[in-house]
Amino acid sequence: MASVPPAQDAAATHPVTPAPPASTTIPAEHVAQPGSFLSSVFGDNPYFQAGFGLMGMGVGLTVLRQGLVWGTTALRRRMLVSLEINNKDRSYEWFLAWMSRQNQVAQQSARVPWVRSHQLSVETIVEQRKNGSSSALFNLVAGPGTHYFNFRGAWMQVKRERETRSMQLMSGVPWETVTLTALSRDRFLFPQLLAEARDLAMRGNEGKLVVHTAWGIEWKPFGQPRRKRPLQSVVLEPGVSSRIETDIKAFLDRRKWYADRGIPYRRGYLLYGPPGSGKTSFIQALAGSLSYDICLLNLSERGMTDDKLFHLLSNAPERSFILIEDIDAAFNKRVQTSEDGYQSSITFSGFLNALDGVASGEERIIFMTTNHLEKLDPALIRPGRVDLAQVIDDASPAQARLLFNQFYGGSFKVTGLSDDAVQAMASELHDIVSDELSAGKRVSMAALQGHFILHEAKDALASCRDLFARR
Ligand code: ADP
Repeated sequence: MASVPPAQDAAATHPVTPAPPASTTIPAEHVAQPGSFLSSVFGDNPYFQAGFGLMGMGVGLTVLRQGLVWGTTALRRRMLVSLEINNKDRSYEWFLAWMSRQNQVAQQSARVPWVRSHQLSVETIVEQRKNGSSSALFNLVAGPGTHYFNFRGAWMQVKRERETRSMQLMSGVPWETVTLTALSRDRFLFPQLLAEARDLAMRGNEGKLVVHTAWGIEWKPFGQPRRKRPLQSVVLEPGVSSRIETDIKAFLDRRKWYADRGIPYRRGYLLYGPPGSGKTSFIQALAGSLSYDICLLNLSERGMTDDKLFHLLSNAPERSFILIEDIDAAFNKRVQTSEDGYQSSITFSGFLNALDGVASGEERIIFMTTNHLEKLDPALIRPGRVDLAQVIDDASPAQARLLFNQFYGGSFKVTGLSDDAVQAMASELHDIVSDELSAGKRVSMAALQGHFILHEAKDALASCRDLFARR
């Protein structure tokens, strides 16, 4: 039987090796390499394997995400150029109009207009005419949100954002910005794009008259630009049109003269006379002939205050006439202040103040019209406020003759009617008008125009006496 040797014997025969100090290298075969150690401990553990895999993936993703952040930041820094335009700037509207134009062009050529074309806004423009008729036009523009488009080979992102919490002071229009980001290092793309948008806007207005109206304290184009009316189509008493034209041209040539003398560079015109004599038509045609815009100011508008008026008069767009119609009507009533302190109209002194207040060197041309000169306060008509006052009256014999010729002569002549025949009829009308005038009866140019639109030359002449009335 085998005997187990006593412990001391064992110790004697197998001397105990002292425990190796910590620094002593453990024989390689006893040391697990990290992998092999872990795998030796956890190798067969499926839970660990899955966990380790997940951890690896997590690390990988973090690195990837970090890389992406770095990448995009670097890309943004090196490759992307951004531009922000807010709706206080004129280029804002040009740009939106340009975008909507790109959309139209794309739709016409059956291309996909925007990557996200369902975010459209509609801009409705309602044009109200003097005779009460109106027309509405719809403009589809890129709505708030993100859109993409390609401009000269570079992709661009457009973000249109609307600030819902704050409004522009007075005008009540929400703040908006568009941020353009181009995936391109070409910094000149934006100026190119904006120049294209501006040119498009300008081209659309070429040969057109732009009428602005007040929106709170801002001027905004109203309706679509209208076709310019030729100056000579408004038939005034001989010499009247050229008197005003010469005056305004002389004024426009004397900017330096005014500046050198420190005089405010402004000029005021007052056209007075009965309704339908062509006052408004003439001012609009004159603006068109000088390539000026019209800023239509309605003094009786609800919400108009002295402060707003002052601001509007000092901040009209460049190259524009300020047109204030029926100036007498605005001051007939006293200022009414309701309980909540709402001031429903401007004061006369506030108006004078606004007229005088434009002390800057900026050009200011103001046209005023009235049907009742006698109702105007002399303080308003003094030089400096009104520099040229001109009566525009009912039809004179000469005006009636000219209007008749314009309607029925030249290219408008009906067949079978010779030039001489038209001239003879026009002369006859001339005599009828002088006849009626000496009997104290008058007719407006608007009434004559309406009559000529309805009748052929002969009928028009035959029935024209019915139009005259004592006034
Ligand atoms: P006012 O401003 O004097 O009231 P408008 O300019 O509004 O007159 O004219 C009203 C209409 O009559 C317009 O359609 C215009 O074409 C026509 N009309 C008035 N006066 C003239 C004129 N002197 N020559 C040509 N058309 C005229």
